Amino acid sequence: MSYHVDEKGFYGNFGGAYIPEMLYPNVEELRQNYLKITAEPSFKKEFMSLLVDYVGRPTPLYFAERLSKEYNTKIYLKREDLCHTGAHKVNNTIGQILVAKKLGKTRIIAETGAGQHGVATATVCALMGLECIVYMGEVDIKRQAPNVARMKMLGAEVRPASSGSKTLKDATNEAIRDWINNPENTYYIIGSVVGPHPYPDMVARFQAIISEEIKQQLQEKEGRENPDYVVACVGGGSNAAGAFYHFLDEKDVTIIAVEAAGLGVDSGESAATSALGKIGIIHGSKTLLMQSPDGQITEPYSISAGLDYPGVGPMHAHLFESKRAEFISITDAEAMDWGIKLSKTEGIIPAIESAHAFAILDKKQFKPTDVVVINLSGRGDKDLNTYIDYFKL
Ligand SMILES: *Cc1c(COP(=O)(O)O)cnc(C)c1O
Repeated sequence: MSYHVDEKGFYGNFGGAYIPEMLYPNVEELRQNYLKITAEPSFKKEFMSLLVDYVGRPTPLYFAERLSKEYNTKIYLKREDLCHTGAHKVNNTIGQILVAKKLGKTRIIAETGAGQHGVATATVCALMGLECIVYMGEVDIKRQAPNVARMKMLGAEVRPASSGSKTLKDATNEAIRDWINNPENTYYIIGSVVGPHPYPDMVARFQAIISEEIKQQLQEKEGRENPDYVVACVGGGSNAAGAFYHFLDEKDVTIIAVEAAGLGVDSGESAATSALGKIGIIHGSKTLLMQSPDGQITEPYSISAGLDYPGVGPMHAHLFESKRAEFISITDAEAMDWGIKLSKTEGIIPAIESAHAFAILDKKQFKPTDVVVINLSGRGDKDLNTYIDYFKL
């Protein structure tokens, strides 16, 4: 069984490029060039040097001593929260902006929901001096004012999407329309392991630095490269793809993907895609998707904006279907409690997305000798208002 993409862009039954014909030239240009470009020594050198000096990599693999004692096992945290801009997303935007430059593109577009990917894109556009347009739903612009301000400070133009539910899906439609109208000079930076092939594979490769570092760091700290468990939260699935990447073919590593159950898997207010999803097509990719019986996409819900997505990337759909990864869903309440618990136990305030991953510690039994690596995808600064409202802090 292969867990990597095949030549046609599929992970088992999932993936591919289901796109309107007008988008074909753009996606095809990228497909024909992404492996060639990213294999060039000059690309690798620039990518690595920016990851080191700009992002602050390698991020630490931190042994969480108090947590380990409490759960009587060995718990390590991969500190993506310490990346510049506060989460793993910048690993991908750095990679893609370098690809855009190699393709000779001068104008960058992106879509954003909560604004985290928009900020990561605006950041690398400022770094490279490129024009940046971020599409964002009108509703999200109101909800996420600090990230809108960040993008503006970074020099990006934030364009409101005012159709439909005025959220992420509508922003994505606007971005695609823009790309179709500007095929020559424009590059579309997608923020997770979603979208038509080659995006899921390209984004997974950029995020794979996470598991590459985990292997080296575990070798130093434990005398072995592989943990017994690797755990990450899944929205679209990019931090998880990065944390899992180099362990996919290592049978002794148990992979745990954590989804947002929202108010509960059966509550009607959830984003637990693997539990609730059926095969369908979203954003150009065949994957598991929350939908009504007649195929309309269901509005997802999670308290964490980054997990509030009705699908998962095709790699994760395949990991679920093939049972290579175990999928566990965690409610808002469980995740929020872990936001406090990690803060008080280790002095680290996590992003609410990341807090979901920690909640599996209460769901599974680990042996004292087990090495459990949890990917701490981001820091909680952006979520402070949600924490304040929720806990009346
Ligand atoms: C965006 C985000 C996520 C979810 O996105 P993935 O592509 O699933 O990784 C998770 N954690 C944080 C901190 C985020 O900002």
